[in-house]
Amino acid sequence: MGLIDDRFDKNVFTTSLDFVFNWARRSSLWWLQFGLACCAIEMISASMARWDLAERFGMLYRASPRQADLMIVAGTVTKKMAPVVRTLYDQMPEPKWVLSMGSCANVGGPYDTYAVVQGVDQVVPVDVYVPGCPPTPEALYYGILQLQNQVIKYETMAKKQGLSAAEEQRQANRAQAMAGVRG
Ligand code: SF4
Repeated sequence: MGLIDDRFDKNVFTTSLDFVFNWARRSSLWWLQFGLACCAIEMISASMARWDLAERFGMLYRASPRQADLMIVAGTVTKKMAPVVRTLYDQMPEPKWVLSMGSCANVGGPYDTYAVVQGVDQVVPVDVYVPGCPPTPEALYYGILQLQNQVIKYETMAKKQGLSAAEEQRQANRAQAMAGVRG
């Protein structure tokens, strides 16, 4: 300890303002508080004390879409519910992100019926798909980490190459993710 005592008191940390903003956005994804079916229970448990999703990534669920920049679609999307999901998405400010959690939200799951939307990407654009029925909290964690990587790239690109280039990249990422899910 004697070697490092008093040696780091006056150090200066330098970085770019862009990096700080990007890092802040990536590290404070606030998600819209709603759940559609059993997957929501896993999402809720991921945010509770054992997995602590909310505190760990600076994430926080918000009751208003106007304060949220992430929508986690957790559960079965029925055709009756689809317009509501779309309205909530439209009320979120840009830039916003969508994570589809579980087989039902991804592709309709076991419900190939007249009442169930066969993939929430028919209603809102999806950035990350998390597979499983239901996905575990750990799987949701992995999806969030993947999303964080996309968010920081989007922000960096928007600053360096403009918003339209970043949007194009986001659309390409989404198309690629969708192709993976549809196989
Ligand atoms: S994917 Fe499975 S656990 Fe999730 S909502 Fe559908 S049936 Fe329920």
